[in-house]
Order: sequence, then C-alpha cells, then structure tokens
Amino acid sequence: MTITDAAPELSDLLHSLVGSALELEAPRRDFLLALLRTSDEDLLEVVSAAGVVRRRFFANRVKLNYLVNLRSGLCPEDCSYCSQRRGSAADILTYAFVEDHAAFDSIGRGVAAGAKRVCLVASGRGPSAREIERVALIAKTITERFPGVEVCTSLGLLRPGQGEALHDAGVFAYNHNLNTAEERYGDICTTHTYADRVDTVGRATEEGLSPCSGAIFGMGESDEDIVNLALDLRRLRPDSVPVNFLMPFEGTPLAGVWELTPQRCLRILALMRFVFPDAEVRVAAGRELHLRSLQPLALHIANSIFLGDYLTSEGQPSRADLDMIEDSGFVVEGHEPAAGADSHPPVALRRRGPGTEAPPNA
Ligand code: SF4
Repeated sequence: MTITDAAPELSDLLHSLVGSALELEAPRRDFLLALLRTSDEDLLEVVSAAGVVRRRFFANRVKLNYLVNLRSGLCPEDCSYCSQRRGSAADILTYAFVEDHAAFDSIGRGVAAGAKRVCLVASGRGPSAREIERVALIAKTITERFPGVEVCTSLGLLRPGQGEALHDAGVFAYNHNLNTAEERYGDICTTHTYADRVDTVGRATEEGLSPCSGAIFGMGESDEDIVNLALDLRRLRPDSVPVNFLMPFEGTPLAGVWELTPQRCLRILALMRFVFPDAEVRVAAGRELHLRSLQPLALHIANSIFLGDYLTSEGQPSRADLDMIEDSGFVVEGHEPAAGADSHPPVALRRRGPGTEAPPNA
C-alpha cells in the first residue's frame, strides 16, 4: 500500500471514486483527500480510473476552446496571481478594447483551427453597459458567421440583467472562476470576495447562461483547500470547469512560486474529474508549463483544452496540440475524421550534419 495507513487501499479508493462518478453522486471527501495523497508510483492507475469516467461521458472527444483577450491589463482589482492586476509589473501587452477587425481576425483563425468555443475575455472588475453592448455585438456576429460555435464571455462581476443581455445576443456561456477555497480567498485578493464570485456564477446561470467556473492551483493551497473548493464548486453545478495551474509571472506577488509537479497536476485533474464526472473539465492556463511532457496523459482525464495563446502568455503551437490529440487516440469535437481518413507526416530527408555544410542536429 502506498497511501497513508488510515487511507483505503488504492484499488478500493479508485473503485469507490469511479463508482460514485458513474452514478453522478458526490464522492467521499476523505477519499478525495486520499486521492491527492497517492504516490507518484500509483499515478498511472489514478489516470486510468479517471479515464474510465472521462470515456463514459465524453468518449474520445476533445473540445477545443479559443481565447480572445479583448482588453488586456490595467485592471483595478488586485488578484495576486494575475499579470493584469493593479500594480502589476509584468511586461505584458496592455491595451483598451481591441478593434473589431483584430478580434475577428483572431476568432476566425481559432475557429479554422478547430475551436468549438470562443471565449471573449476582458480585464476589469465588471463590464459597463457600453461594454456589454459591444461584446453582445461581437457575439452576435460570431454566431452568424460561425454557426455551431459557442460563445463564452468572461467580463468579471455581473450586475443584474447583464447576463440576460448577453444571453439575448447569443452568448452561450459565462466564465467566472472561484479560483481558490473560500477560507483563503482573502490571501489572494482583497478587492472583491469569494461571495462576489459565487454571486456572479449564480447570476449568470439564473439569467440563462451556461456556467463555466473553475480554479487555479499551485498558489499555496493545502489538500483540504483543494477538496473544499472542488466540493463547493460542485454545488454551483458548472457545465464547464477550467483547471488552471499557476503561471508565476515576474512582476506579480506570486512570482517565484513553483510548487506543482506534473504528477500533482494530474492528481488534481483526476480529482476534478471524479467531482465533475459529466462536466467539461478543461486543462487551462499553465498546461504547458507544469504538465510538460505529461500533457498527453491529461487528455485521458480532461475532455477539453485551450488552443493557441492564453490571455497574456503564449501557448504551444496549435499544430503541436492537434498532433498530441491525434497521437493519443482522441478526436477534436466537431471535427471527427471521416472513416478511412489517414494522414502521415512525410519522411524528412537529412540535409544537415556529415556530408553537408550545415551543422548537425545535436
Ligand atoms: S479581476 Fe480578472 S483581470 Fe482583474 S486582476 Fe482579477 S483576474 Fe486579473
């Protein structure tokens, strides 16, 4: 046995977690804690168990999401993980609302690469009436130009009626993450509260939008914090759950905080899959940085990723993501290959090293 004496055997633990997930029941809290404390040696069994749940509800499909940062930086809020926060010294792009042509150029490329959902994001505490109008117009245009593509918006705290206005314009979902456990929310932000965030997720849902809400891990939270957050979030019944891993930007209070391993990220993802069996669990920011070469294993747990760049940092090339999905035996949702379709890369003939003037590949 590789977990603590008081914990169940690994096989019993995973059997219970898979069983509750397949029945769409809440998992046992002590079992979620035990899951986080399993050893690296047990990792493949944990991934495999989470994979059973993932395949039951999502087969081998991977949903691609594409972020468009409509306004970058200059935020009055002080979320300590965020490069766009008040007082941030991170060397990020800062700009007010992008021109429509720049937004649509970006959106068109994301959709062409396979994105099923476009996420329109703007920094700030919450949207003004004029910003709601502007985003509504962009959303309406997206739904006309790209039928079948979902529009999600992430604009901060919502006031009554703003969710309804977005919904009426064709916006499908609203993203607002809880980010961390209620008990430690004050440690990561002082300009708004956990309750403010919970209210906005509830308001978006009541006003007709599909709730998208997740968290950021790697900010000093304990195992208990992770479980508390996950079970709290479950009560909000999100349809999609972005799982972010802290990107410790230089120039922010959390610069230099590197506490995640690829294995811990996979255990956290597995926990989220067991807590949200039939919700879209999305590996979000920090995927490349923290999972590194174990990214393909995450696809066996999560059924959704972001394609392309994040809000203020660059993601890996979309071709690399598409290859990873195909090589791992998954298909892009909405772009399932026709029967018999096959593609192979060409053999690259050597034109460097011995026999050439070019330096060798080493
Ligand atoms: S409200 Fe959003 S954009 Fe502003 S600091 Fe917090 S996370 Fe960053």
